[in-house]
Amino acid sequence: MTSKRVFSGIQPSGELHIGNYLGAVQNWVRLQTQHDCLFCVVDLHAITQPYDASALSSLTFDMAVSLFAAGLDPDKCIVFVQSHVAEHTELNWLLASVTPLGELERQTQYKDKAQRQESVALGLLAYPVLQAADVLLYKASLVPVGEDQVQHLELMREIARRWNARYGDRFFPEPQPLLTKTKRVLGLDGKAKMSKSLGNTIGLFESPESIWEKLKPAATDPARKTRKDPGTPEICNIFTLHQGFSPPDTVTEVAQKCRTAGWGCLDCKRVLADNMIKELAPLRERAAAFKRDPAGVLQRLRGCADRARTLAQRTIADVRERMGLLKNV
Ligand code: SF4
Repeated sequence: MTSKRVFSGIQPSGELHIGNYLGAVQNWVRLQTQHDCLFCVVDLHAITQPYDASALSSLTFDMAVSLFAAGLDPDKCIVFVQSHVAEHTELNWLLASVTPLGELERQTQYKDKAQRQESVALGLLAYPVLQAADVLLYKASLVPVGEDQVQHLELMREIARRWNARYGDRFFPEPQPLLTKTKRVLGLDGKAKMSKSLGNTIGLFESPESIWEKLKPAATDPARKTRKDPGTPEICNIFTLHQGFSPPDTVTEVAQKCRTAGWGCLDCKRVLADNMIKELAPLRERAAAFKRDPAGVLQRLRGCADRARTLAQRTIADVRERMGLLKNV
């Protein structure tokens, strides 16, 4: 496979939970060995909605720790904080000058979020322009995305096309979505998406006891009212989690025992808990080591931001020149 440049961002929501891990980060750890990857904690995106300023820096730090502990390695990829590379905001403005307002107003995510707020900030409307800047700054050609972000990616491609048409044929590649096999993980309630604000998550670094305590009451296929009732693994979130944490042989066995009522849901969850604890133990140990050495984490982030900035400055210099801005010599 030819190596391509990949960019992806994650909100600074503190420590990762298993939903973020299976839905994105586990895949990033794979991608870093296949492509030229940049992974960014997007703190500038986080401030486009009401947020707690006194908590943002520690949430950003914890997310960086999570990413390093999950296996992202600065020797294989670049992991950095968005606001540490000021060129993101500069390109945001330069791209805003070619972005049609109507396209921004039509974005579904904007309409949903704006409806829930009394006063809507310009930053929320312009969010996709900053997203385009994040990716185009590094001329990334692949963006790992979930289905809910495909519309933003299409707008990103449109912004690249418009800028290219005006200032430089094919200067920016039109980024392609990199859709992955990862499944959408529901929360432990089996209803909503796994999310910290809903309290239905398992943190990536939780203790074995805590993992088991949370899995025990988690929702399963409601058709399995008693031990003797067969179930349908495909509609059970516990089965989805097995697909994320258990080896293929076990996944096959789980499906078969579920369909034939060969075991109870608690037996099934115990096997899942054991596999989850086994996979997450080294991550938990790495996270503890990073937390004992915050200066080391900041140094990693600084080194990565320096490398990102070097790439970003090359793009910005070319963009400024093509857009006719006087050189600051
Ligand atoms: Fe879900 Fe496992 Fe129970 Fe089947 S046996 S319903 S997969 S928890």
